[in-house]
Amino acid sequence: MIRTEPLFREQGYLKTVEASVVGINDRGGIILDRTIFYATSGGQPGDTGYLEREDGSRIAIAATVTGRTKDEIIHVPDAQQPVPEIGEKVTAAIDWDRRHKLMRMHTACHLLSAICPHPITGASVGEEDSRIDFDLAETDWTKEIATERLKELVEADHPVFTRWISEEDLAENPSLVKSKNVRPPVGVGRVRLVCIGEGSSVDSQPCGGTHVARTGEIGEVHIGKIEKKGRENRRFRIRFGPLPA
Ligand SMILES: [Zn+2]
Repeated sequence: MIRTEPLFREQGYLKTVEASVVGINDRGGIILDRTIFYATSGGQPGDTGYLEREDGSRIAIAATVTGRTKDEIIHVPDAQQPVPEIGEKVTAAIDWDRRHKLMRMHTACHLLSAICPHPITGASVGEEDSRIDFDLAETDWTKEIATERLKELVEADHPVFTRWISEEDLAENPSLVKSKNVRPPVGVGRVRLVCIGEGSSVDSQPCGGTHVARTGEIGEVHIGKIEKKGRENRRFRIRFGPLPA
């Protein structure tokens, strides 16, 4: 098993990094000693981008996924790309415009889960449209009210930061976990909490994704729709821009 140093975890704003090729898997996936490419997980899609070789040519990366364990990060090349040598040095570059939108959207999803404190049954982050499904049979929420509450939290420009806690601390604070179906990883000793607001005043929850540094950076978002999904679920959709008139 090859372990990739996940630089995106502490340095979400890195756009390029120098790295070495340490493995090629049987399907042509490229493994680096360290990377800024986020691998698809927790509802956030993996990064796309390229690996630039020393001669200046590029290997286009169409997707990033985890391998046999979450520590193994596989850069999946686009079709018809050259295969690098083991030990080769490359400059890894992510599609930053796409990733920054995903960071803004992902952080907006945290804000929505803070204003709508119900168990989450599913979530998906997208560049233009994200969704959270809440275990919620009856609701007074309207898209106008939810949009207004999100806007307040964005405009307050709260800091977003991470904090590591022990599994024991998490076990003593079960309310930190908002997802009904997905449990944070256990057996690794510590859990990464994503906190919003001074002293986590707005929200804190376990998450391994990438987020913006302040809520103001999310920019204008609105709730596009609140759909009924089955008897006990409501799906909230988040989109960029103002609420359409
Ligand atoms: Zn997150």
